[in-house]
Amino acid sequence: MIQLDSITKSFLLGKESVHVLNGISLGIKQGEFVAIMGPSGSGKSTLMNIIGCLDKPSEGEYYLGGENVSQYNDKELARVRNRSIGFVFQQFHLLPRLSALKNVELPMIYAGISKKERQIRAEEALFKVGLSDRMDHLPNALSGGQKQRVAIARAVVNKPKLILADEPTGALDTKTSMDIMEQFRELNNEGVTVIVVTHEPEVAEYANRTIMVRDGMIQTPDTTERGRLK
Ligand code: ADP
Ligand code: MG
Repeated sequence: MIQLDSITKSFLLGKESVHVLNGISLGIKQGEFVAIMGPSGSGKSTLMNIIGCLDKPSEGEYYLGGENVSQYNDKELARVRNRSIGFVFQQFHLLPRLSALKNVELPMIYAGISKKERQIRAEEALFKVGLSDRMDHLPNALSGGQKQRVAIARAVVNKPKLILADEPTGALDTKTSMDIMEQFRELNNEGVTVIVVTHEPEVAEYANRTIMVRDGMIQTPDTTERGRLK
């Protein structure tokens, strides 16, 4: 599903070029549950942004579902994102003035789905994450874990094949973190490919494979395979 070949990424800071990714090659199959770990500043979010078509590599090739997206322009990248990828972030990124339901409806507005259909699907998605009784609440009236559930409902409402979560439990206590990871596990059991960046070993335990990033490189080419926790 995902094939990265010798990906590099540099940013220009003034006249200096900062090399953040230094040759990443990686394959991820449909249906995998992968954790990405590594020190702060090692390039995990930069890598996730490239995988998520939020940014493009400086060099190297990226194939997503067999399609070479490496040098797509912003419009083409947006099309790929809207069609096939759901995102979850540490700080939830909910719109504060919109109810849980309206937040979940947003990606469907971009996808051009009718109002009636949007509402039905948003209600379904919120039901699935256990928030049927919180649909009309504003984000501020929800706990951290509930906010992240809304974000997950929003990420899955267009039925993406791939979910990318960058430190999704970074702002949550341990018990809530495990509840959130259970949601990802359920999605993965339904066949969705899940990639999670995390600092926490107990969160990475949910994945079938852990990739260690250090200084913009993958530390162990032969990554650890684990038995499925089910
Ligand atoms: P991580 O997620 O592993 O903490 P990041 O991928 O966010 O690391 O960042 C890796 C390095 O790249 C950091 O040193 C960061 O400052 C730098 N970096 C990330 N994005 C940019 C950018 N847009 N411009 C310049 N430097 C950046
Ligand atoms: Mg990061």
